[in-house]
Amino acid sequence: MTMLDSINELWYLPRELVSDGFDQALTRLAQEIPMRIHHYPSGEQCWTWRIPEKWTCQAAYLETLGGKRLIDYADHPLHVVSYSLPFVGVVGRDELLEHLHVHPRLPDAIPFVFKYYERNWGLCCPQTLRDQLNDEQYRVVIRTHFEPGELKIGEVVIPGQSPQTFMLVAHLCHPAMVNDDLTGVVVGIEVAKALLRQAQEGDKPYYTYRLLILPETIGSVAYLSHHEHLIPDMAGGIFLEMLGNASPHALQHSFQPHSQADRCLSMSLQSIDLQSYTGAYRSVINNDERQFNAPGVRVPMLSLSRVEPPESPTRPYREYHSSADTPAIVSQERLEASRDLILGLINAWEHNQFVVNRFKGEIFCSGYGIWVDYRTNPEGHRRLFDIMERCDGEHTVADIATELQISFQAVWEVVQMLESKELVRLSRTPESTDPHR
Ligand SMILES: [Zn+2]
Repeated sequence: MTMLDSINELWYLPRELVSDGFDQALTRLAQEIPMRIHHYPSGEQCWTWRIPEKWTCQAAYLETLGGKRLIDYADHPLHVVSYSLPFVGVVGRDELLEHLHVHPRLPDAIPFVFKYYERNWGLCCPQTLRDQLNDEQYRVVIRTHFEPGELKIGEVVIPGQSPQTFMLVAHLCHPAMVNDDLTGVVVGIEVAKALLRQAQEGDKPYYTYRLLILPETIGSVAYLSHHEHLIPDMAGGIFLEMLGNASPHALQHSFQPHSQADRCLSMSLQSIDLQSYTGAYRSVINNDERQFNAPGVRVPMLSLSRVEPPESPTRPYREYHSSADTPAIVSQERLEASRDLILGLINAWEHNQFVVNRFKGEIFCSGYGIWVDYRTNPEGHRRLFDIMERCDGEHTVADIATELQISFQAVWEVVQMLESKELVRLSRTPESTDPHR
């Protein structure tokens, strides 16, 4: 199954927070890769949150008093507000309009509206249809059902040499939409498959990797609050979202922009994808990375998306939270490019270690055959010495790249060369060689 095949199969399901549609999609994905499924019952307390009830919509429609049907859930799952209360009755036009939602930018699309915790009833339709509602009264029928259920979370673990863990997270909720965030889910699974393959071929990663597939926000809170013992080992992570639309990659920093994860990922990004850009925490898009970055958790959790650049009027992307977010706006090629970018970032992350000098004083470069002539290559000469100076057991590769504002890969190349000459070694922990410490 290609990523696009999975999307075509699953996208139209009514994947609500706690719902049969969500469970069906997760069960299907669990056939793709070894996955553990966690269950959390409705009503259970998770830190300051509570697991919501299971929600099902049997029918929802709007019709004229003459019986002409104008909006029907049977035509599209977005016609009803997610977690809408049931309602049956005849309402005046003004009252109806208070409960009838349209998209702020796309007049022909149905908006995605959810009221998970603010209980109300509501329907959604295109602006063009709402503009034609001139009758005095309409008949509304919303048959929705709330009942105790179970919130489900899929977890894929790729064991590493260390319990130190790198998190990959994506959300599977959002009925009948694709880019937000089924794309993050299918890309995450492909990344996990590649890591599993590498591990099976004997190339066991240093870090342990955990991919979580969950319903937005409450899913992250449910997982973290039930796995508090794992949090101290979470060294970093990436929330994956909106990876199919035609915009450049956007890497959003965590709440701790000086963390090793932030430094390593941001300094290696552009060597892998020249078009990509980086933004501060909460400046690109807000999502589940917030739960990981929050007080008491503080995992440096970045996010990767294809959110349009800051100057775009249709940010995060044109079809966001609407019925226009279909398989037509994503491509297999872009999903593969995102997968490859993430694998490239993970490759840098695996290499990021403290560089410990086995030399004292400045290296006699000519003697080791690594001299760069400043007359013919002043840039290269400067760079070699800038890097060498920072090989002191206190700087990681990412620290050196950040200080010098050069790519992770450029530093890595020099460090590897020095390592091959036995001038440095790599360490997972700082090992200062400064005799004054
Ligand atoms: Zn969303």
